[in-house]
Amino acid sequence: MKLIFEMGAPGRGCDLIPPCTTPEVTIKVPMRKKALHLPEVSETELSRHYTDLAKQTHGVNDGFYPLGSCTMKYNPKINDAASLLPGFTNIHPLQDTKDVQGCLEVLSSIEEALCEITGMQACTLQPAAGAHGEFTGLLLIKAWHESRGDSKRTKIIVPDSAHGTNPASAAMADFDVINIPSDEHGCVDLEALKAAVGDDTAGLMLTNPNTVGLFDPNIAEITRIVHDAGGLCYYDGANLNAVMGITRPGDMGFDVMHLNLHKTFSTPHGGGGPGSGPVACKDFLTPFLPGLRIDKQTDGTFTAKTAAHAIGNVRSFSSNFLVVVRAFCYILTLGREGIPEAATTAVLNANYMMHKLTGHYRMAYDHTCMHEFVMTLEQEKHERNVSALDIAKALLDHGIHPPTMYFPLIVHEALMIEPTETESRETLDEAVQIFLDVLTESQAHPEKMHEYPFETPVRRLDEVGAARKPVVRYISWEMTPTSIG
Ligand SMILES: *Cc1c(COP(=O)(O)O)cnc(C)c1O
Repeated sequence: MKLIFEMGAPGRGCDLIPPCTTPEVTIKVPMRKKALHLPEVSETELSRHYTDLAKQTHGVNDGFYPLGSCTMKYNPKINDAASLLPGFTNIHPLQDTKDVQGCLEVLSSIEEALCEITGMQACTLQPAAGAHGEFTGLLLIKAWHESRGDSKRTKIIVPDSAHGTNPASAAMADFDVINIPSDEHGCVDLEALKAAVGDDTAGLMLTNPNTVGLFDPNIAEITRIVHDAGGLCYYDGANLNAVMGITRPGDMGFDVMHLNLHKTFSTPHGGGGPGSGPVACKDFLTPFLPGLRIDKQTDGTFTAKTAAHAIGNVRSFSSNFLVVVRAFCYILTLGREGIPEAATTAVLNANYMMHKLTGHYRMAYDHTCMHEFVMTLEQEKHERNVSALDIAKALLDHGIHPPTMYFPLIVHEALMIEPTETESRETLDEAVQIFLDVLTESQAHPEKMHEYPFETPVRRLDEVGAARKPVVRYISWEMTPTSIG
């Protein structure tokens, strides 16, 4: 397939913008000496180019996409339609609040809904992703300890079954990260936690359900141990898909958490954004929240101001607003009945698939799972040199996006499967059959497994080469005729 820079011809294009009617000015900055080499293509070429590109990828609209931890579910189109309404798109963030009352109402209403779903009391919509929310939440924890003059709390405890972003965010927020091991069930080892807490504990970060897809049964005990030591509890709620409407982190004793609107609450992702990772917290952390505090006045109007001791903005303006609109539409369409139904269906679908694959594939943990489960190909790797990667690549030829591979790190040769609630039983049955067929083939022809995929637009990629010698720039011969041979 050609790059768009290699298509078209000089002067070709499509004029969509009318001629300029305001006087031209010359700005006094150094001007480019040579015209930029930009693609010059007709509308037909442009349209075909992007259609070609779309055909070479795999998305939720193409088929099953069980990418564990990522919640690649179908996002109803009505949420897109709502976010495209002109009242939401034709606004400017610096507009006077009296002219954007409807938008403030959306922001205020979704904050209220997210607080209800999480059992928290206040919320900021500013963070632009899950990891960004973690960072924000940790700054709230830091600000709270500092406001009490408690400066020796420098440590954040992170169980080894946490998502990888947890220790990374804690390090970015300038905390020391204390890793504690999981027990044989993949949950927090209470003795290790008791030994780790002390008067230097700023808090604990817990991913729940954790990265092996299990709900920690000792959750109330965990938050109690941390609180007794004077620390705060952070809940990584990126996996809220499994529990929303059923149980609430606030009720489990957590003080602050983030949610991933781009996973659980209907924004397509995988293409790199935009996302949204709101942070919800208990009352006592509210004075430190970043962004705008939106208040409903008695006359029904909305005002926006910054919090008294705000940690400062973590991004510009209020939020990735249109992602928030999608999420609000999703919450309203599901409602009080639909939200728990989505969660129970997500958990049911995962358990259904896990049950059907058990006895053929080896499960990393022999437990009822939440919305995802982890298998280990360690034995296949050992006995026949068939790896998790080989199985994943073979699935591609059957129209299935591979599960998450080699994550979580505590399971060797891991494949992590998250079917999500938007798949039908027929799709799950078909997928199970494909997983079983691929496993049978790997027993008969282990060597062939290293060759997969055969049918995709590109075959197996050189991942080491791509990481070690990345080529991330296209050099046009018109720009630098001598620089390429
Ligand atoms: C996806 C995920 C994150 C990170 O979210 P981003 O939006 O990718 O930054 C954090 N924790 C868990 C458990 C996740 O699944």
